[in-house]
Amino acid sequence: MSEHWEIYADWNPWHGCTKISPGCKYCYVYRQDEMYGSEIASSLCRKTANFNLPIKRKRDKSWKIESGKMVFTCFTSDFLLEDADPWRPECWEMMRLRSDLWFFFFTKRIDRFMQCVPDDWGDGYENVIVGCTAENQAMADYRLPIFRSLPIRHKAIIASPLLTAMDITPWLDETIEEVSVGGESGVDARPCDYDWVLSLREQCIAKDVPFRFHQTGAHFIKDGRMYRVRRCHQLSQAHKANIDYKIGRYLVPETVKLEWKEIDYHD
Ligand code: SF4
Repeated sequence: MSEHWEIYADWNPWHGCTKISPGCKYCYVYRQDEMYGSEIASSLCRKTANFNLPIKRKRDKSWKIESGKMVFTCFTSDFLLEDADPWRPECWEMMRLRSDLWFFFFTKRIDRFMQCVPDDWGDGYENVIVGCTAENQAMADYRLPIFRSLPIRHKAIIASPLLTAMDITPWLDETIEEVSVGGESGVDARPCDYDWVLSLREQCIAKDVPFRFHQTGAHFIKDGRMYRVRRCHQLSQAHKANIDYKIGRYLVPETVKLEWKEIDYHD
């Protein structure tokens, strides 16, 4: 998959997040902060030095993020986090200005969406893709009906970290451009059963919705047997399963190529 990375960029305007649902239990932001010995609590959301990355220019005045890229947005937090309410309007403005880029964010706070959008949102910005996360049936039952009702031009469902079998059939329709499924990573990862993945795939095929299996997770059950999958193989093993259906244009990693050590913060 390495060739894909050339068309992606990361933009983390803020860092840190509060846990909100079962999928957050082993949040990778907390894990990575701990790994790198961060002295600031992961729950403390703060702006990063890259807050205005989309409008930063190089010495020759060209954009730092080249035109046409898919920008993974806010992967070290949740874009709709309440703590970030004062900063988000500026981000929308940058997204509007950089209509030559795609911006893709996931959220576990889809119920805050309408109070977070700018006045000119209308039916949604053409260059913004929103992923609604659902990690178990309860979260699917709560979030996906809300997601379905929202004016968003490009929608994806992120079933990750997949913690149980799920029935998302009622919310699969032509407005969903991709369902992306993955297991949990990390030493404490809860297992992901391949049968759950295949079930979601069948649901997508039945509704002709693109499906992607993006990573196995660290503890993967297949045919009743548990496998430990090293981090470096979790994406490639999922890819090798070769079960994607009508793959959309998005690649959805759990963690994008974050330069964790290089993150620094504004006061
Ligand atoms: S919403 Fe996402 S970033 Fe925030 S705590 Fe949960 S998993 Fe972590």
